[in-house]
Amino acid sequence: MSEPWYADGLRFACTQCGNCCTGEPGFVWVNDEEVAGIAEFRSEPLEEVLGLYTRREGHLRSLKEKANNECIFYQREVGCTIYPVRPRQCRTWPFWEVNTRSPEDWAQAAKACPGCNQGELISAEEITRRVKVIRI
Ligand code: SF4
Ligand code: SF4
Repeated sequence: MSEPWYADGLRFACTQCGNCCTGEPGFVWVNDEEVAGIAEFRSEPLEEVLGLYTRREGHLRSLKEKANNECIFYQREVGCTIYPVRPRQCRTWPFWEVNTRSPEDWAQAAKACPGCNQGELISAEEITRRVKVIRI
């Protein structure tokens, strides 16, 4: 297989700006394991976490949003309040397929995420691993 265009790796370091947890309405997909992890982290019953913080979307489940479109777990001044157990979708951002198909896609992602092209050099192997964790 030919090398990806990001064979030399890409830099990324989150600036905690909150752009990816706020803004336009969207979906933060969660699976059963992730919901259970959130319940344990918050010391809340699973059923309560499911009902209060998630919504069904067909056969999938997403985190809810507040009326202002912020993720239900986002707090200004704090950031993500479930950071250690945040879903795969949040863990792998910005290394999603849609952002890594080409340098142009990566440049587009960098417009929304100031952490792109900053800080730690993430290897091509690690980028590809994250892309495969969740295909968006
Ligand atoms: S948009 Fe990028 S820099 Fe801002 S919080 Fe999200 S990952 Fe971090
Ligand atoms: S779970 Fe955390 S990191 Fe993910 S969108 Fe919500 S606040 Fe942001």
